[in-house]
Amino acid sequence: MNGPLTRFSNAVTAAHQAMSIKYNNRAYELKRAGRDLTVLSLGEAFFDIPLQDFAQLPLPDGLHYSHSRGVPALRNRIADYYLQEYGVRVNPETEILITAGSKAAIHFIFMSMLNPGDEVLMHEPLWVSYPEQVRLAYGFPVQIPYDVDVRDFPRFITARTRVLVVNNPSNPRGSVLDEDRMGAIMDMARAYNLLVLSDEAYSEFLIDQRFFSFAALDEAKSHVAVCNSLSKNFGLSGWRLGYVIAHERLIDQVLKVNQHLITCPATILQHYAERHFDRILEVTRPQIRAVVEKRQAVSRYASEIGLSQLQGDSTYYLFVSIVPSALGSEAFCDRLLEEDSICVVPGIGYGNSCDGFVRVSVGTESLQSICRALDRIKRLITITIP
Ligand code: PMP
Repeated sequence: MNGPLTRFSNAVTAAHQAMSIKYNNRAYELKRAGRDLTVLSLGEAFFDIPLQDFAQLPLPDGLHYSHSRGVPALRNRIADYYLQEYGVRVNPETEILITAGSKAAIHFIFMSMLNPGDEVLMHEPLWVSYPEQVRLAYGFPVQIPYDVDVRDFPRFITARTRVLVVNNPSNPRGSVLDEDRMGAIMDMARAYNLLVLSDEAYSEFLIDQRFFSFAALDEAKSHVAVCNSLSKNFGLSGWRLGYVIAHERLIDQVLKVNQHLITCPATILQHYAERHFDRILEVTRPQIRAVVEKRQAVSRYASEIGLSQLQGDSTYYLFVSIVPSALGSEAFCDRLLEEDSICVVPGIGYGNSCDGFVRVSVGTESLQSICRALDRIKRLITITIP
């Protein structure tokens, strides 16, 4: 009798679990076992969003598959949004595709762009899924250390480089690219014929400054694809609604992948998002402002007690240095969880150059308990100096 199968795809076997999810799962298990934890590892802010009546939505349409580019009215609405907010002209018939979250959207772009061994540039600290997604599409992630400026990226470009991923604003850094650096990236993309994949999932998380979409720098969309999502800006991560804005030639490729893997995201949720688009933004925007202000207050407090961070003023993440602790970031987080019941995510999950950091997410705990947690982080650094 043969036992259960043990031979799996090499690509999937080699893939790592996302570090943030690994630590969130541990927090979840500990909480279930009755431990009182301060959870600073979640990639969410829990917004209060009143639910509207589903019975008012188009039925029975909402119960069936939608167009595989997404419900046309929602594509129109997203095109209007990118025009009003970011000055980007988008043809909703040909230049948008809605799918099940931007995670899928980003992966479908890699699948559409890469041949085996093609390279994708990404700047550390990077969102945990980019390297694995590239590898799952048989590409090769080229991770640029965090202290390299974007103007020095060309030294990482080879004949195999096809895509440069930019996460703006950035998870886990909380930083926003300035116009100069965006211009330098666009020039590079044109000079080396690369696609800039701009992940704009946190585009609403700026206060007192305007967000610039990469698509505004490339009206023809010849070298830019934008991914965005309703997960963060609309506080609807569980609804799995994300989208791609790109040149129609790229969208046509992504469309085939989407048709074979997803068909379409939940039709009724697309209708709901379209009908209540403005109303949801109206309720999330003040809550976004409050969480970004909380981030600023946390950042000020961290600086006051001598915790340095990578510069940033957006999102609900801070990337906090644990130098000069002798502990690597995983050992540091394990000890913080064990001894202080505080869950943060090891920097190593965001790239090899980031082992001297931890990610602190301020979306779900009170300012007071976050500041108390920072005191404990500071203390753990101090008692583990070699
Ligand atoms: N990009 C970034 C930078 C993210 O932080 C996330 C979610 N954590 C995503 C993309 C994916 O979001 P979703 O699939 O929910 O749209």
